[in-house]
Amino acid sequence: MSVSKGICILGSTGTIGVNTLDVIAHNKEKFHVVALTANHNTEKLFQQCLDFTPEYAVMVDENAAKQLRQLFNDAGCKTEVLAGKKALEDVSQLSQVDYVMAAIVGAAGLLPNLAAAKAGKRVLLANKESLVMSGQLFMDAIHENDAELLPIDSEHNAIFQSMPALINGFQLKKGVTKILLTASGGPFRQRAVNTLHEVTPEQAVAHPNWVMGQKISVDSATMMNKGLEVIEACWLFDVPEEQIQVVIHPQSTIHSMVSYNDGSVLAQMGNPDMRTPIAYGLSYPERIESGVEQLDIFDVARLDFEKPDFERYRCLQLAFDAHRTGGYATIALNAANEIAVEAFLAKKIKFTDIPLIVENALQKAPSGTPQQIDDILSQDISSRENASVYVSHLH
Ligand code: NAD
Ligand code: MG
Repeated sequence: MSVSKGICILGSTGTIGVNTLDVIAHNKEKFHVVALTANHNTEKLFQQCLDFTPEYAVMVDENAAKQLRQLFNDAGCKTEVLAGKKALEDVSQLSQVDYVMAAIVGAAGLLPNLAAAKAGKRVLLANKESLVMSGQLFMDAIHENDAELLPIDSEHNAIFQSMPALINGFQLKKGVTKILLTASGGPFRQRAVNTLHEVTPEQAVAHPNWVMGQKISVDSATMMNKGLEVIEACWLFDVPEEQIQVVIHPQSTIHSMVSYNDGSVLAQMGNPDMRTPIAYGLSYPERIESGVEQLDIFDVARLDFEKPDFERYRCLQLAFDAHRTGGYATIALNAANEIAVEAFLAKKIKFTDIPLIVENALQKAPSGTPQQIDDILSQDISSRENASVYVSHLH
């Protein structure tokens, strides 16, 4: 990698965004930041712009954008501030951007990610929700525009590392019999199921192994995160869901495995630190320093594996069901889950209400498959509205 690559980070103020900037800071001669974006955290985006001097900073919130412009004026910072949702798509498509880190949380990432795919960029996909919503359409946009899609989710990055290299943008999966998708089981793995209705948002976001944003932390506690990842893996690696086995592995040392027909099982291991998959996505097919400590295998000492209990993790079952139904069902699954998690974090509903809200949305989802992005967006809106009504009946 001799020429410095131009990077756009969608969601730079989040956990993935911050980790991406840290990897870039370790490799300043290989990458330069062209654009950073955030929803409304002015202070953090301002500091990041001082440190990485991008050409553009996008603030979705208009008032926050005004504040940021003022801060830049006072500091003599040359970064241009853009405002609004459309600007997220614009910076993803800039000719000086080579790689787009898709690290916005939730459905809000869909249009900018799609814009990056349409512009033929290397898309580093952390935002799994967009692929769950738009599956075929997103993969078509990648292939039709000669874009490159590299998984950043640690499990999918591990699977990617454990499979033969990309051939013409498609995984060569000769001999693959199963994908073993690992999961930590979250903070309530050993808690009595009949006490789950009592858990608080504070307990739910306290993940045993990973430091992450609030939404994905709750998703890890319900294992909806793993459900979304099953769907993500089906699209990324073009496999049916029967070929995916979810494995609870509480140490989070093995990040996933691939089984082959000759009896081989390939695994990727490492400390639970997102800078490893981020570095691999940025440097592929080479490898770079990430700042992550080497795994001490004697510290790990043992590796445990368990089958998931679908009674404890109702959301995991619902995700499998939604993917089997396909089409509008996965859009409804994601939308209702986002509304349910938000309501749980706001203490409006119980932890155990989350699967009820998602199940209700799946029952209401129309059959059939969306043909265009507008169909996806309108289903997303109507599932959110239905889920909000359901939430208001619950509390
Ligand atoms: P986070 O909550 O820490 O950060 C979210 C980022 O998105 C912030 O920069 C925020 O400003 C931006 N954002 C939020 N709402 C927005 C909106 N409506 N419009 C535009 N921008 C918006 O989240 P995170 O933990 O960094 O996760 C980001 C994505 O990566 C999620 O899809 C998550 O599932 C995925 N992911 C995260 C991890 C992890 O370890 N954190 C691991 C794998 C995958
Ligand atoms: Mg993951």
